[in-house]
Amino acid sequence: TMKCSNDYFEKGRLSRYGKIELSPSSGVLNYGQGLFEGMKAYRKEDGQLILFRPDQNATRLQTGAERMCMPSPSIDQFIDAVKQTALANKRWVPPPGKGSLYIRPLLVGSGPILGLAPAPEYTFLVFASPVGNYFKEGLAPLNLYVEDEFHRATPGGAGGVKAISNYAPVLKAISRAKNRGFSDVLYLDSVNKKNLEEVSSCNIFILKGNIISTPATSGTILAGITRKSIIEIASDYGFQVEERTIPVDELLEADEVFCTGTAVVVAPVGSITYRGKRIEFKTGAQSVCRELYSTLVGIQTGLIKDNKGWTFEIN
Ligand code: PMP
Repeated sequence: TMKCSNDYFEKGRLSRYGKIELSPSSGVLNYGQGLFEGMKAYRKEDGQLILFRPDQNATRLQTGAERMCMPSPSIDQFIDAVKQTALANKRWVPPPGKGSLYIRPLLVGSGPILGLAPAPEYTFLVFASPVGNYFKEGLAPLNLYVEDEFHRATPGGAGGVKAISNYAPVLKAISRAKNRGFSDVLYLDSVNKKNLEEVSSCNIFILKGNIISTPATSGTILAGITRKSIIEIASDYGFQVEERTIPVDELLEADEVFCTGTAVVVAPVGSITYRGKRIEFKTGAQSVCRELYSTLVGIQTGLIKDNKGWTFEIN
């Protein structure tokens, strides 16, 4: 029997990217017992690599593992595996301003199990791929579609953790929205069907006057690390930041809307379409979104001095 202990994982090893062996009866293939993380390594002007708040990804994985009945790597094991992977791929990390190395930690139930129960063995692995900047021509605004039929998560479900099983069910909503010309989907809560939750792989913020609001993390949305960082940066700038319930109707009064996530960093939302009505928002060089983006990217790439202890240099 598997013990959900914290000293489950032994020291790992580096290997060349390639296929992995997995039992057909593994927990992950049959019951979706798996979690992932997403993070980026940036190259500084001096050539060194920076990880952004890797301890936050490590603890989020641990919280998820607890929810999914899995053992998890220690924070040190997690950061070490990410660091080794980034360093082994150092030559693939784009120069400053040209992109980053996307890093994907995966924790899966790899052991065989037929009855519905936690897998008897687990695998933690990390792979990486260079990625360009999400927006090649500056910050192209997103045009979101508010989903009325599909929900991403329900109270008591696993929406608050980065379970692999949260993602396949939204593929249909995303492809439907993309076919209609939208960039992505904005989900509403599944109980009242009227409060903002999040976008498929990023969190949402609205600005009205001096108040920046974002849905509270009450278990159905992912507590984004970019979200947490932007809350802090916006507060430093003197904005009043509120984590609360946001009815979709509030979009009608918003000055700006933006999304945060590892992939998009901070992305302006140009329009949101809800029940056939298109609402437009301010974007562009003078926007608050742009200011927050520049500050965060500055810290992440070592151009702005990090006095928060968020950056983690590796060499
Ligand atoms: N929500 C969802 C559903 C996500 O998949 C992600 C990406 N991890 C986020 C929000 C943003 O989280 P982060 O800022 O930690 O990347």
